[in-house]
Amino acid sequence: MSKYDLVIKGGSVVFPYEGVRKADVGIRGEKISTISESLPSEGAGKVVDAAGKFVFPGAVDSHVHIGIYRPFKEDATSESESAASGGVTTLLSYFRPGKNYLNKTGPYRELLPELLDLSDNSYVVDYGYHATMNTEAHVGETEWLVREGGISTFKYYMFYKLLNLAGSSPDGMNYLMIDSPVDLGFLYKYMKEVSRVNELFKDYGRISLSIHCEEPEIIRAINEEVKLSPSGNPLKDYSDARPPWQEELAINEASIIAKYTKCPVNLLHLSSQKAVEAGKDVSSRYPELSFLLEGTLHHLGLSNEMDLGILAKVNPPIRSREDVEYLWKSVLEGTIQTVVSDHASATREIKKGDLWTSLPGFGGTSLMFPVLITEGYHKRGLPLHTIAELSSSNPARYHNLFPKKGAIAVGSDADFAIVDIDEERKVTLRDLHTAQDFSPEEGMKFKGWTKYTILRGKVIFEDDKVIADPGYGKFIKRPVNLHYE
Ligand SMILES: [Zn+2]
Repeated sequence: MSKYDLVIKGGSVVFPYEGVRKADVGIRGEKISTISESLPSEGAGKVVDAAGKFVFPGAVDSHVHIGIYRPFKEDATSESESAASGGVTTLLSYFRPGKNYLNKTGPYRELLPELLDLSDNSYVVDYGYHATMNTEAHVGETEWLVREGGISTFKYYMFYKLLNLAGSSPDGMNYLMIDSPVDLGFLYKYMKEVSRVNELFKDYGRISLSIHCEEPEIIRAINEEVKLSPSGNPLKDYSDARPPWQEELAINEASIIAKYTKCPVNLLHLSSQKAVEAGKDVSSRYPELSFLLEGTLHHLGLSNEMDLGILAKVNPPIRSREDVEYLWKSVLEGTIQTVVSDHASATREIKKGDLWTSLPGFGGTSLMFPVLITEGYHKRGLPLHTIAELSSSNPARYHNLFPKKGAIAVGSDADFAIVDIDEERKVTLRDLHTAQDFSPEEGMKFKGWTKYTILRGKVIFEDDKVIADPGYGKFIKRPVNLHYE
């Protein structure tokens, strides 16, 4: 009798921070039990033949928006299936009180149980939540969320502050369902509390604040200019209306407050050269702080010279080809440490309207490996082990999932994406396994498709089919080193 429930045989294993070597992996229950040059497969519960393929750690997509535009439970199922089909085994979703999502506000002590209840029996991959605090009462729940709730990462959207300034959109307050502004004064208090709680739990993880850095007062002014003389290319107009320098400004504002409050910060979805340069600059100006610089699949894979139309509207916008090249340079030199999808499943119906009124965002979690392998490995020489770091180990470390997730090591969860790095396909909606009825990447050719996805020792995707049931995915309380089971 083999002592393994599952053996992955004959593959090239991609070890983060090390490199690639041929190895077999033996799995017992939900964990990696043995990694060895050759393991006997006789009597194993199941054998996955990985010959000719690359065995990556299951991807941790640390930036998605489950339930933003579609009914929550339905979205959790369809979009976690999309994740599974792309080798993503853990999703970290940005939850926000207010419109969309649960369409309500209230204390997290009430919202979280409801959120977890809806999540239960919905996901096919493991998941966790980042929490957005919209009120001082929410901020007061930070320590409780870490200690009891299993949520150790938080979010602030800089562009929501304008909604609450005198003279701006009267709908703003309604959108977040709040009655006092989430301005920089609010951000200061928020950072002070995240910093205090980080100090409290620093032996267990990095309690951090993720920030969407865009400056709405500048956007409002420049929007008016662009609307007066549009270029005819909607994505270029949208990029011009939210120019890279307002990201640079926002990053500097947030980072200076972080400096004085000692708050660990994640600079999300850096879209442009100016944004990355600002992120590098604040990292070197304040070396005592911990910054994470995040990139997205769409900012790396798309440019606004492509004829994509307004369905590819997203915040921050798709930028120029030069910006895209600079982002890749930053990935190659290690400045951008994580790559995420910012997946927000939409439909054509939801996104109708003109450039200025249609809703931003779209999905792409299942393209994690195709984009990184085609545009990174094949076109620019990005090493495969770096792809494992960007897609799995680094997000797991920064978001307090390591070493349960993000490692190919004995004792870690047996989560894998087994990828054929040379198989080329033209993107079809069928391949994405999503409820979204369009994709900006539809028709584009990519190499690097997932053949098997394994989550906690169970094959959840093979033969182009998701074979796990909703509910197999578990809520992962973070930091995992505090909530160790
Ligand atoms: Zn996002």
